[in-house]
Amino acid sequence: MGKYKHIFFDLDRTLWDFEQNATDALIEMYVEEKLKSAGIPDQDKFIRIYRLFNRELWQQFKENEITKDYLKTERFYRTLKHFGVEDYELAGRLGRQYLTISPTKKKLFPYSIEILEYLRKKYQLHIITNGFKEVQFVKLEHSGLSPFFNEVITSEAVGYKKPDSRIFDFALEKANASKNESIMIGDDAEADIKGAQNAGIDQVYVNFHHSVNGVKPTFEVNSLEEIEKIL
Ligand SMILES: [Mg+2]
Repeated sequence: MGKYKHIFFDLDRTLWDFEQNATDALIEMYVEEKLKSAGIPDQDKFIRIYRLFNRELWQQFKENEITKDYLKTERFYRTLKHFGVEDYELAGRLGRQYLTISPTKKKLFPYSIEILEYLRKKYQLHIITNGFKEVQFVKLEHSGLSPFFNEVITSEAVGYKKPDSRIFDFALEKANASKNESIMIGDDAEADIKGAQNAGIDQVYVNFHHSVNGVKPTFEVNSLEEIEKIL
């Protein structure tokens, strides 16, 4: 595949194991903030309920219905309230702690470093992420991913989130890349794959969970290792 020169990677859930790192951070917070004695009896249930509210709020955030500041605290406020603990101050503290602790977690998906080592020899690598600016750079630094990437484009800096084609246009310009010589690699059928399609960029859909959906990517893989067969 000689035509590509630039690879744009998604970060969360494509390279950086978001769920595992979030779980590790939440466990640490549960212990340190003594949430058991605060009235939340079960750590696993705390994490499960948090995820439900977080997913719901992230959906609203993606659709620009709520702000990042609201999301940060509200996801913990609702979780605590679910257990009968109405404590806005504690929710605020948990919200801040989460954004401090979680990006220092380092778990990557299997073969992340290997595939980047392989790809960097042939292509220029970049990141396009919808995550918060202040945490994404910390994640890249702590997990050892930083050195692989030339440009890191965050939706916050651009003002548009994937799948909005304007974030892809911005990324192309920043990387000095053309559509034809670029390819997007990501796990999100909507944000990464449809987004890149709308922007006229080829895509590799990293479908770890073998999800069935209507998306028709240029390429599809079920592990990072398989990317070597394509690129
Ligand atoms: Mg992702």
